[in-house]
Amino acid sequence: MDISLSPDQRAIADSVAKICAGFDDAYWTACDSAPRFPHEFHRAMADAGFLGITMPVELGGAGLGVAEAAIMMHEVARGGGGFAAASSIHLNIFGPHAIVVHGTDEQKERMLPPLISGEQKACFAVTEPNAGLDTTSIETFARRTNDGYMLCGRKIWTTTAQEADKILILARTAKKEDGRKPTDGMTLFYTDLDRSKVEVRRIPKMGRAAVDSNTVFIDDLFVPDEDRIGEEGKGFRYLLDSLNPERILIAAEAIGLGRDALARGAAYARERVVFGRPIGQNQGIQHPLAESWMALESAWWMCLRAASLYDSKQSCGAEANAAKFLGARAAFDACTRSMLTHGGMGYAKEYQVERLLRESMIPRIAPVTEQLILSFIAENVLDLPKSY
Ligand SMILES: Cc1cc2nc3c(=O)[nH]c(=O)nc-3n(C[C@H](O)[C@H](O)[C@H](O)COP(=O)(O)OP(=O)(O)OC[C@H]3O[C@@H](n4cnc5c(N)ncnc54)[C@H](O)[C@@H]3O)c2cc1C
Repeated sequence: MDISLSPDQRAIADSVAKICAGFDDAYWTACDSAPRFPHEFHRAMADAGFLGITMPVELGGAGLGVAEAAIMMHEVARGGGGFAAASSIHLNIFGPHAIVVHGTDEQKERMLPPLISGEQKACFAVTEPNAGLDTTSIETFARRTNDGYMLCGRKIWTTTAQEADKILILARTAKKEDGRKPTDGMTLFYTDLDRSKVEVRRIPKMGRAAVDSNTVFIDDLFVPDEDRIGEEGKGFRYLLDSLNPERILIAAEAIGLGRDALARGAAYARERVVFGRPIGQNQGIQHPLAESWMALESAWWMCLRAASLYDSKQSCGAEANAAKFLGARAAFDACTRSMLTHGGMGYAKEYQVERLLRESMIPRIAPVTEQLILSFIAENVLDLPKSY
């Protein structure tokens, strides 16, 4: 049993860390305050070939597994940019999975290379205001026309829709009550985000301002047949394939952000002198930070275990969910403790921890909440009755 990173995996972490070092705290503070999308960071990651890490080699990707992608995203979030850095490229890493697996050769050749090169950006629109976590209750409808579909509806929380050229969108092509199962009758499309038919309205929010979140109003958006991914009515099933990789990546991002916050807390605790000694000499300061190290480390190994199970085509639902839950909690706690270690300066933007703390709420909520993860584990691991 070998649970250490391979030399290649270490090399990925090192080269991502080098790129991140080119973007300092002032850069991320400016992106957060403006707010503005971190285009330069996105470009640097594209130029280094990282945006296609999991995509097929023949299309310009690196063809690597979710473990390598997790190692990369862990480093991205750890490098000072937190979730703003991670979310600026996150969709590229797991989003096109449905196209890789279920797209035609023509679609893959048309859709994937511009994402890998960073020439195009995409957003992913599943969540709706009236459906929430109950995805089968989405109302966005794609009505059949002669050579395609006409889409109408509303999405919420769509990340990067201000910047995106393309939208990966789940819509109903049949009513929920008409299917054999509630998950039937939903179809996945990857199409142009035509702003004459789609209004994108930014949601002012708590953190990660650099990467926009939006309400998206779709009014008669025509989608040609060639932009439908896979078969009509099977879109939800296609998305299920990418749920575990996404949870693993969010876990890795949360843990990376948590490690950054912890490192900042420990550095401050070593340097800040009060009552004639470094504050880090007090156990009341040391112990919470030490506890966070342990929590982050355990979440990281759960994350890598989930990734390794996924990459070896074994079932990993429990581990991927657990990694996401543990990673998000560990990150939030590390940020809170780091902020308290900083005393008053933790509340000042200059020390960055308040930015990380605001962002650390994201992985606790998205793409799935803690409650739903606990219900998943209760039902699927502990064999308890489904609660909803
Ligand atoms: C910053 C950010 C970025 C996001 N990016 C995207 C994106 O790019 N694309 C996208 O499609 N979505 C995105 N989301 C949406 C995100 O996935 C949802 O917010 C999340 O899935 C929760 O759904 P909801 O907000 O509708 O919560 P709701 O479904 O309204 O739930 C509200 C609360 O009730 C709890 N709850 C509901 N039902 C149950 C139950 N049966 N048992 C126990 N508790 C329950 C939930 O756990 C939660 O705490 C993003 C969200 C955020 C905050």
